[in-house]
Amino acid sequence: MEQKENIIELRHITKTFEDGFHAVSDFNLEVKRGEFVTFLGPSGCGKTTTLRMIAGFDIPTEGEILLNGKPITKLPPNKRPINTVFQRYALFPHMNIFENIAFGLKQKKVPDHVIEKKVKKVLELVDLEGFEKRRVSTLSGGQQQRVAIARAVVNEPEILLLDEPLGALDLKMRKEMQLELKAMHKELGITFIYVTHDQEEALTMSDKIVVMSEGKTQQIGTPEDIYNEPKNAFVADFIGESNIFNGIMTGRLKARFCGGEFACVDDVEEGTHITAVVRPEDVILTAPEDGTIRGVVTSVIFKGMHYEIAVESGKNEMVVQSVKAAKPGELVGMKVDPDNIHIMIAEDHTNIFAVEINKSHRLEYNGTVLDTSLTKIIRGSRRSEDGTLLDAAGEEIDPRRIRVIAAIGPGDIKLTDHQDEGLVQGYISNLIYKGDHYSYVIHTDMGQDFVVNDEYLWNMDDQVGLIMPVEKMTFSVKR
Ligand code: ADP
Ligand code: MG
Repeated sequence: MEQKENIIELRHITKTFEDGFHAVSDFNLEVKRGEFVTFLGPSGCGKTTTLRMIAGFDIPTEGEILLNGKPITKLPPNKRPINTVFQRYALFPHMNIFENIAFGLKQKKVPDHVIEKKVKKVLELVDLEGFEKRRVSTLSGGQQQRVAIARAVVNEPEILLLDEPLGALDLKMRKEMQLELKAMHKELGITFIYVTHDQEEALTMSDKIVVMSEGKTQQIGTPEDIYNEPKNAFVADFIGESNIFNGIMTGRLKARFCGGEFACVDDVEEGTHITAVVRPEDVILTAPEDGTIRGVVTSVIFKGMHYEIAVESGKNEMVVQSVKAAKPGELVGMKVDPDNIHIMIAEDHTNIFAVEINKSHRLEYNGTVLDTSLTKIIRGSRRSEDGTLLDAAGEEIDPRRIRVIAAIGPGDIKLTDHQDEGLVQGYISNLIYKGDHYSYVIHTDMGQDFVVNDEYLWNMDDQVGLIMPVEKMTFSVKR
């Protein structure tokens, strides 16, 4: 295949708002002509801000944007061959469909007969032939969004930006429109830059996905790259269901996590702290005596094509996808092909752990209620009057169907010999002097190892409590 040139390049883009907030930091991206690129990340991670800088509605604080190799960083929006479709359709309610679509062309003084031809063509493209005279209020949400797309496409942009364009549609309509948009992308042959917080949508539609978190790119790659080779725990957790464990390399091609020692194919040095990721579909259920680890089935949910089975193994939980059912309370064995164990070096030794949601919908770890709430950690969410949890799009979130993962850095945990003051207790199982501090591994009562940096010397096997302030934790929510 011929190597296509970059249509858009973002170089070291940073956006700091007046209040000092860094919405986007050192963002680098190359988009090839004709590509379908998707920005994927949780609400608030800077997707819209980045798109607005590409469109010209916002100017980067630092960095450069190139269009076809030429800088356009400060070029006004109407001078860029770029059009945007927003989540809210923003159609003119007092105009009919024809007038809505023709609006931009009329402004540009395009002759009437040309406008008529162009509008007819884009109406065909979005499957709304003959809708010219209809009023906006008579259209369904899906149809209105098609008009919004037609209105952007009629200007024949080189690049179409789409900011969560399907976010306001119901699931069925969203699935339909995903397919239509993909077909449209093919037919038009232009570059699409698409924004979504829905990983499934990103995986099905894109040539290239940019996973974002807190204003930074976490990984850029094809859907397959991102799904099969997540670069860090954030990506692994955000993309698809994953079992994530802290662990340690115990030998050549051997890793200990989730209470067992597994053979793996990643050649990582013995003693290295790792994060191991195992997809639920890669866990094989066996007779108890045949598994690398054993556990007790705690829940079984039928998902149509397979069962989703949760297994408690010591203090760890493994989620398993299986075509065969299991019974709650049943003792099972579990093994994983070495190929299917994904080892990441825990470079910064961030501790990642699952937090529970208790019956009153409070977050809990090791029996202690954490001083935060679901609405605080799910960006844009709120409670309705009857207490139902709603996401930013107003859709109901069932707290029983989400998983909350907390992360805390090794420098943000304090050790205390007043064990009860800790959120969790354990003993020192490893220590390394790092020049100006010690790095400890604490094997906790929760069965999980935590890495803690501390300037004080503790001894091997000392019993300690781990003080972990909630304000130092970051949470990610998996729906
Ligand atoms: P996303 O589209 O990924 O949900 P945004 O790009 O809209 O995220 O916002 C990223 C962050 O920047 C958010 O925390 C948001 O509150 C903040 N932000 C956006 N616009 C402004 C602004 N004009 N001033 C200050 N902060 C802003
Ligand atoms: Mg947004």
